[in-house]
Amino acid sequence: MGKVYIVGAGPGDPELLTLKAFRLIKEADVILYDRLINSEILFHAKPGCELVYVGKEDGKHILEQDKINFLLYEFAQKYETVVRLKGGDPFVFGRGGEEAIFLKEKGIPFEVVPGITSAISVPLYAGVPVTHRGVASSFAIVTGHGSKGQFPDINWDALAGIDTVIFLMGVSNRQKIAQNMIDAGKSPDTPVIFIEKGTTKEQKEVQSTLKEVAQGRVNVHPPAIFLIGEVVSLRDKIHWFEEALRRVQI
Ligand code: SAH
Repeated sequence: MGKVYIVGAGPGDPELLTLKAFRLIKEADVILYDRLINSEILFHAKPGCELVYVGKEDGKHILEQDKINFLLYEFAQKYETVVRLKGGDPFVFGRGGEEAIFLKEKGIPFEVVPGITSAISVPLYAGVPVTHRGVASSFAIVTGHGSKGQFPDINWDALAGIDTVIFLMGVSNRQKIAQNMIDAGKSPDTPVIFIEKGTTKEQKEVQSTLKEVAQGRVNVHPPAIFLIGEVVSLRDKIHWFEEALRRVQI
């Protein structure tokens, strides 16, 4: 029987892979990958490596989680090195834990390789630190999408007490999220930022306020990070990625 590696691929920029992820991608006999995986990363697979897309499209799984689990099981019988490649970190809204539990129950050997989560690195690429002395001493990472696509069950009052709140999968519910944060006590003038396709050449940043988002005045497209907090105002001072990109393009 082979071994399954549940591997985080980082937020998009291929250079944000860990050395361990990079080695496993090169050694893999099969790679099962998600939608948010940058295709440049898959170029590192060895010739003959089987590449299996198991991502989501428009919020629904092309393959249900059960089927992904079944494939992991099947490939582990057939191959020595099975890589299950996920965007960001596999245990941050990545269902990596569910897959690990499944493999454990089936007696299939596995390892988990952490990745750089988009929740923190994408704001960083927009010049927004999630904590900053004197500005923010706490942050929370929250899903903006409940299971089966419903609005998530969240303790908004508790969340309003956190300095920096980072929503993943929050684009389609952004209006409701912003309104709930205001209702729970966050100032309507709190700065917010949406960062689309962070850490890639197509990174796009939209800065606004909670109030404007609640009013439906902010246009954004997934995948994006929706970050709420005073740290957004540091962006003017720290902003660096676009300049770095421009220098590379010249
Ligand atoms: N495990 C992943 C998160 C999976 S949930 C991680 O740790 O990063 C998928 C959500 O992550 C998307 O809806 C989006 O909110 C966010 N996301 C992932 N990659 C992103 C990127 N490059 N730019 C902006 N948001 C991203």
